[in-house]
Amino acid sequence: MSFEYERVLTPHTGLRLHLNENTAGCSPAVIEAMRALTRHDVAIYPDYAAAIQACSQRLGVEADSLLLTNGLDEGILAIAVAALRNGPSTSPFEAIVVVPAFDMYAACSDAAGGHVVEVPLGDGFAFPLERVLGAVSARTRVIWLTNPNNPTGQMIPADAIASIAAAVPDAIVMVDEAYADFAETTLIGSAILARHSNVVVGRTFAKAYGLAGLRLGALIGHPQTLAPLRRVVPPYSINACVAAILPAAVADTAYYDWYLEQVGQSKALLYETFDRLGVDYWVSSANFVLARFDGDCTGLAQELSAKGVHVRDRSRDSGCAGCLRITAGVFEHTQAFVSALGELL
Ligand SMILES: *Cc1c(COP(=O)(O)O)cnc(C)c1O
Repeated sequence: MSFEYERVLTPHTGLRLHLNENTAGCSPAVIEAMRALTRHDVAIYPDYAAAIQACSQRLGVEADSLLLTNGLDEGILAIAVAALRNGPSTSPFEAIVVVPAFDMYAACSDAAGGHVVEVPLGDGFAFPLERVLGAVSARTRVIWLTNPNNPTGQMIPADAIASIAAAVPDAIVMVDEAYADFAETTLIGSAILARHSNVVVGRTFAKAYGLAGLRLGALIGHPQTLAPLRRVVPPYSINACVAAILPAAVADTAYYDWYLEQVGQSKALLYETFDRLGVDYWVSSANFVLARFDGDCTGLAQELSAKGVHVRDRSRDSGCAGCLRITAGVFEHTQAFVSALGELL
């Protein structure tokens, strides 16, 4: 089985509702801060003091419990490398992935030499706690969880995360909170994170902050748990540009709040539209909605693309037959999707 990441085609025109990016772009304050960069700033290896300070303040964590990464993708790779390398070649260390899931968990686990153990979600994408616990073996070194999940938008009950963390004290339990901004709930500052030093939380500035192109993620965890991950991440992994603009990005809370409101309104419009059209969907805690269409959803996605609205075909994911995932961003963008869909259905 190949776990190689399948790169999604990048359309050069049209509305991108296929990668859960911020459809408004980043805060204008970020561009201003970028314009203030000098030739000298770009020519030197960056200093991260200001970026770390801004990020730790915004997330409410101490700097020694925080590791900035080149996109959360790099954080996922660092966990995979630290946890899974050096396994016996006859019986590699194992990584448990609850599927359907973000593709990078399997891709990085596999690249680091681990063995991927997939556990499917239950009916209606219910979290399969008993099956995850049943999949744990003496070789389990990492369990990948996503809260809220991508592509389903569903939350994992907090006590399920605590049970898993307690069951695998020697493995890392990564709780990927790439979409936690939209759920407005996080493990950061929680008793679970304080009590279980094997839990590592992942955050990204790609989605709510609109910095996908600049690449910035963060891992949050116990300093001792982060120590082996710090050894994997290269010393200048974050580029000077994103290091320089981060204080401005996190300071613009008005922009952030506005965007979260747009996402909320967009999700309401999607639900209303799917109700009206008789399309099944899952109420989402993230900035996208997964919907199940009758008939050929791959063809439907292609027809939407031809109309200039790109959505993500997830129909080949575990349990997702007939499903498209639509990013919920700026309200007018969602309206454009709704009218394109209306012309096709
Ligand atoms: C988008 C996404 C990421 C990747 O974030 P980057 O910071 O862009 O690397 C990680 N996890 C999940 C679940 C995502 O959807």
